[in-house]
Amino acid sequence: MSHDDWEQFEFETRAVRAGQVRTHEGEQSEPIFPTSSFVFGSAAEAAARFSGETPGNVYSRFTNPTVRTFEQRLATLEGGECCVATSSGMAAILATCLGLLKSGDHIVSSRAIFGSTVMLFNNYLAKFGVETSYVGLSDYEAWEQAIKPETKLLFLETPSNPLTEIADIKKLADIAHAHGCQLVVDNCFCTPALQLPLALGADIVIHSATKYIDGQGRCVGGAVIGKEDVVGTDVYTFLRTAGPTMSAFNAWVFLKGLETLSLRMKAHSESALSLAQWLEGQPGIKRVYYPGLESHPQHELAKQQQTAFGGIVAFEIEGGKEQAWQFIDATEVLSITANLGDTKTTITHPASTTHGRLTDEQRAEAGIADNLIRIAVGLENSEDIQVDLQRGLEAVK
Ligand SMILES: *Cc1c(COP(=O)(O)O)cnc(C)c1O
Repeated sequence: MSHDDWEQFEFETRAVRAGQVRTHEGEQSEPIFPTSSFVFGSAAEAAARFSGETPGNVYSRFTNPTVRTFEQRLATLEGGECCVATSSGMAAILATCLGLLKSGDHIVSSRAIFGSTVMLFNNYLAKFGVETSYVGLSDYEAWEQAIKPETKLLFLETPSNPLTEIADIKKLADIAHAHGCQLVVDNCFCTPALQLPLALGADIVIHSATKYIDGQGRCVGGAVIGKEDVVGTDVYTFLRTAGPTMSAFNAWVFLKGLETLSLRMKAHSESALSLAQWLEGQPGIKRVYYPGLESHPQHELAKQQQTAFGGIVAFEIEGGKEQAWQFIDATEVLSITANLGDTKTTITHPASTTHGRLTDEQRAEAGIADNLIRIAVGLENSEDIQVDLQRGLEAVK
């Protein structure tokens, strides 16, 4: 079935079935094609495939059947015409930038984005003459003012990490389009199960499939989704030439991850909401950041833009870094790691890990206090997680 044919089905059905092409073996589960190249029936057929005259596989840096199934399934879930899979989330951002930009072009980006993305923009794209300006995620006037004639892309993540600030995607898409720019949304935290940026006007969606799409902490991968004449041409051509493509095995793991994505995102969100509500009532907790709380300044926007609030909860405790570390070290079940989007709940101290490279001043500007702790709520029983967080609270009393 083509892209359009899948539109008649609901999200959960597409997540389980879209993109599958059964082979003559009649397999129920999608096969893995671990092959680097493909053979042709004749020299003439080889020539036609190489020239692009007839469609079909040539080499797995270009296309692979397992990878294609993953791409088609994720494209239908995001409501995009086209998806290309990459070797990591960072490779997805790299491929988008190198596919679409040239020396002299300019990016306006939210300040609150993944640390490696900032390094890619500042240390590498800048080296080739692509400059980036940073603005506050929901400071729409600042976005508008930062746009120059050379600006090609607006880049953001929503909700932000770790403070779960929300951007109005539709508003930023309108600003981008009024200036002839494309809006790129890294949809890693919500996944298409909770938020559909393309339907809100974004032009390109980026994924780190490493996180919730895998959902079980096994493989590193990424994807870019958007229009056929942008993602299917410029981004894809860069990718097949430069090579940061996804392996067939990883594509298969992510494909199976998509089948349970909706269920998992609901469960992550439900558990995170109950823990955020509980944390908010605890003595020793100064502030909780979670878009599902009525105390969140953009709770209404989050309700409009997302179908649930995701698995990331951040909170400030009484005290400073010493107390935050004591809290973290007192937990017994949670994994102390900066990764997220796993069945296993993780706990991290952003000021000394994910945001450790920033200067004190940059950290203060980003609102990352020394007493801030972030949890990425997994799929354990939430009461067990609560008991573990209680251990943290006891330790700093
Ligand atoms: C992890 C992450 C990335 C990078 O993805 P990798 O798969 O680690 O390369 C990009 N954006 C966000 C929001 C992330 O959390």
